[in-house]
Amino acid sequence: MTDGRSGSPHFRVSRIAPGVWAAIARDGGYGLCNAGIVDLGGTTVVFDSMLTPTAGMALRLAARRCTGRAPDVVVNSHWHGDHIRGNSGLAPAVVVSTRKTRDLIRTKGVDQWNSDLREMPRALAGLDAPESTTPVLERAMYRGWFEGTLRVPRSFRPTPPNVTFDRELTLAGTRQELEVRTFGGGHSPSDVFAFLPERGIVFLGDLVSVGLHPSTGDGVPARWRSILRRIVGLGVSEALPGHGPVGSADDIRRMERYLFDLDRLARAALRRGDSEVELRRSPVPTEYRSWRFSAFFLENLIHSFRLAGGRATSPG
Ligand SMILES: [Zn+2]
Repeated sequence: MTDGRSGSPHFRVSRIAPGVWAAIARDGGYGLCNAGIVDLGGTTVVFDSMLTPTAGMALRLAARRCTGRAPDVVVNSHWHGDHIRGNSGLAPAVVVSTRKTRDLIRTKGVDQWNSDLREMPRALAGLDAPESTTPVLERAMYRGWFEGTLRVPRSFRPTPPNVTFDRELTLAGTRQELEVRTFGGGHSPSDVFAFLPERGIVFLGDLVSVGLHPSTGDGVPARWRSILRRIVGLGVSEALPGHGPVGSADDIRRMERYLFDLDRLARAALRRGDSEVELRRSPVPTEYRSWRFSAFFLENLIHSFRLAGGRATSPG
């Protein structure tokens, strides 16, 4: 169910359960990733702040409309720019994540911002060029990503978390409790998820995408898979992914299967003695052919190939 009043050009808001909402990024908007909104009773929490301060400000308004309060706490799932650059738009909320994620936002987060400023003008111009390899159906999503980034003032720097934890943190209100936890790094060096134990609702950040390829290049798929199995073991009814619509435990299992398939395909290539050049001709497996962010597939496969010991060129 979509509540039009709480949406924005950057996302649509739907209620998952009493006091729990999903803000799902719209194609062409400047949010790119999803966010969760939780009314704990006297405390409002936002999980992930999206790609831009503009989307973060819209999220702040949406949270206020949904819960009657401006956000008190923002949780950052991991350091990637599309999940944290909205932090400043949600001020003065406290921003929470792991210590490792805070360190990464202050180092790699700034580097990523600077490289985006350098590279995105060309990427935006090339999106609709005749030689563009981006599928037409994916272009609005990319356009919002690039345009949104380039409209942020150049002087911008990501706001790092100001409260950190190492393993878990319970946020308790008068009506419900949110467990903010990490099982370590899988998609990134440190991935946080948030769990409402009484309802079985989990906010996953990029540990799961639904209907889109994830990006595995900053992660370790084997660890990622074990994190996903542990999360399913918590008893999940509904799962808010970092990208794509609200899913279920089946979508968490499907992501685990995708990561397994990458490893299986990479090892098969290794046994055949393939080089990366040959691997780059691999088709997307049928079951993932409708998934968007299709360009990530080969990058992910190469990443798994290298982790399995593959080399850039054939030995012989
Ligand atoms: Zn990510």
